[in-house]
Amino acid sequence: MKKIEHIGIAVKNLKTSNALFSKLFGEPAYKIEAVESEGVNTSFFKVGTNKIELLEATTADSPISKFIEKKGEGIHHIAFEVDDIEAEVRRLTLEGFIVLNEKPKKGADNKLVVFLHPKTTNGVLIELCQEIILKE
Ligand code: ZN
Repeated sequence: MKKIEHIGIAVKNLKTSNALFSKLFGEPAYKIEAVESEGVNTSFFKVGTNKIELLEATTADSPISKFIEKKGEGIHHIAFEVDDIEAEVRRLTLEGFIVLNEKPKKGADNKLVVFLHPKTTNGVLIELCQEIILKE
């Protein structure tokens, strides 16, 4: 793993939270993106070299709806950047981690993503992400 790529925060209302976090960071979100397959709207903020992702549920059965129902708003996941997501999935599976989706899926911000089950990572939902490089 290379570095923390971003930290994901679950929010009830993206519009309200975008205004709040813009005020906090002194800069607006640089990207707002819907990920329909996950039932979420997302926004991304840059803080120096770090990124913060806000996630709002768009459906009642979205993972973000379930998270907020159980735990309320707050830190939802930590995402780590990897070079070869499939190799990392193989390595982590052999190490005994439970992978939620073995086949990487397209996430927000032009990334392939895989999530690890929090029950094998001390209650922390971990996202692995690899930048999608478009071939010419
Ligand atoms: Zn994320």
